[in-house]
Amino acid sequence: MEAVDARGPYDDENIFAKILRGEIPSTKVYEDEWSYAFEDINPQAPTHVLVIPKGKYRSWVDFTESASAEEIAGFIRAVGAVARELGLEDDGYRLLVNAGKNAHQMVPHLHVHVFAGRPLGPMLA
Ligand code: 5GP
Repeated sequence: MEAVDARGPYDDENIFAKILRGEIPSTKVYEDEWSYAFEDINPQAPTHVLVIPKGKYRSWVDFTESASAEEIAGFIRAVGAVARELGLEDDGYRLLVNAGKNAHQMVPHLHVHVFAGRPLGPMLA
């Protein structure tokens, strides 16, 4: 699979759109009005969860330019709720968003990675 361009129209056939529609199974971790969180299929840490907005946004820029303030606040709160509800605060966790080719974004629906469960080392540039 090739990295995607973070710009352009939203692709309704992307994998996470299908997960949101229930066409592809996923292991749910959290859900609310604005957001859905599920386990990554290829985990890079003992805890590797993806948090996605339910709205159709390709990237962080698309989301922050197009979504309502309520939706943005709701989504950011959801990421916090995932960390809290999974009990990640004691040992710590890492949040990551990839956008576009250089960041190796593979799925053109905004997603926040939540990594935890082992020492994650210094941040990669
Ligand atoms: P990206 O590189 O776009 O930031 O991350 C995409 C993530 O989606 C990867 O960590 C990959 O393992 C995960 N992923 C890709 N396809 C699926 C899928 O069908 N189900 C789940 N749960 N995760 C997926």
